[in-house]
Amino acid sequence: MSKEHILVIEDEKDILSMVRLRLESRGFAVFTAESGELALQQLEEHKPDLILLDLMLPGISGLEVLKRIRNNQNLAKIPILIVSALGEENDVVVGLERGADDYLSKPFNMSVLMARVNALLRRSKPNHEENKPNIEKKKDDSEDFIVIGSIRIDIKRYRVFIEDKLVALTSTEYRLLLALIASKGRVLTRNQLIDEAIGNDSIVTDRTIDVHLTSLRSKLGSARNLIETVRGVGYRFQL
Ligand code: CA
Repeated sequence: MSKEHILVIEDEKDILSMVRLRLESRGFAVFTAESGELALQQLEEHKPDLILLDLMLPGISGLEVLKRIRNNQNLAKIPILIVSALGEENDVVVGLERGADDYLSKPFNMSVLMARVNALLRRSKPNHEENKPNIEKKKDDSEDFIVIGSIRIDIKRYRVFIEDKLVALTSTEYRLLLALIASKGRVLTRNQLIDEAIGNDSIVTDRTIDVHLTSLRSKLGSARNLIETVRGVGYRFQL
């Protein structure tokens, strides 16, 4: 199997060389760019399997690089992991909304970086198991069940069971749960959850989403910890 290629966009030389070493030692082919301009040039010649994107770059910002990548049909589907510095939570949120797949804040642990990289690469493969993430469709009389751990969802009847007990969710809670599950472990920002579950034409604040999520969690009982709060950013469903 040929090596997977990773483009690391990072202007801090120490971080860049550490990340490069670690990735190369795990068998990845690594390309680097120390500015947004250089990154975009690299991308014209070479399409990587994954991009690590520092947000604070000289010249073109990381967010602008992200936008250009996502607007380029040829590059739009490449998984992107944002690497942010402390205090850049707002930029991270914008990044996730512009289509980045995940993020990591500095200083980060190399093992965590590797875990995120591997998870993103697995998810991006079209036929990989994780694209049907632990969601086993039951083969009995109906195939309209999603089963994840102790959660069973009857999609046809909009009913959710925890450990075989029916739980009464509001329709917003139900849609939030499905949106989180469908995002396959990606972080969803509050705005994305509002779009997915409530509809972006209604007037909803971030706080409203938190209230719905709190209520949804309390109803999920033993499965409540599957919904993880990502501080300053949003929520993630752990698969
Ligand atoms: Ca930087």
